[in-house]
Amino acid sequence: MAFAFVSGDPALDLAGTVGSRRDDPADLLAAPADLERWVAECDGLPDRVTANAAAFTAALSLREAVYRLALDRVLGRPFDPDSLAIINKAAAGPVPRVELSDAGLRTSGDLSDVLSHLARSAITVLADPAAHLKECSRPGCTRIYLDRSRGARRTWCGMDACGNRMKAAAYRARKRTSP
Ligand SMILES: [Zn+2]
Repeated sequence: MAFAFVSGDPALDLAGTVGSRRDDPADLLAAPADLERWVAECDGLPDRVTANAAAFTAALSLREAVYRLALDRVLGRPFDPDSLAIINKAAAGPVPRVELSDAGLRTSGDLSDVLSHLARSAITVLADPAAHLKECSRPGCTRIYLDRSRGARRTWCGMDACGNRMKAAAYRARKRTSP
């Protein structure tokens, strides 16, 4: 399955690599190679990182912490202390290096740098009282996204992933009930 970068924040996109979290969790990061591919595909991160077993475990732990804290925000409850410890520790490390040239922006760093960057990005979103964090309203999706739309009226994480599916389902339902 392809990765989706529709959450409005790379750390939330990382959390979104587990779909259908409540019913039938589907984890797109089954092995370190999947994580390497995810980092390469995510905008603003280094093109090539290597994930060893320890770094992979750290990434999954950060991912679950981000998800838990985002869910805490969505539900309006206090942050989970263990997840706070994980994200704050990850954020304290060095971040990827960015360089400007005529060819544009180049980002370099290892996976640990990437995790620090993701943790900081998540913290910025989670700490912002004005940020509209929502869970996708397609039943079973469970992706949490940052709604930056005007008036915060978005109801789905992404049009391709969920919006079109919901519209198609509504169309089929209308067709069934019409005589
Ligand atoms: Zn969705």
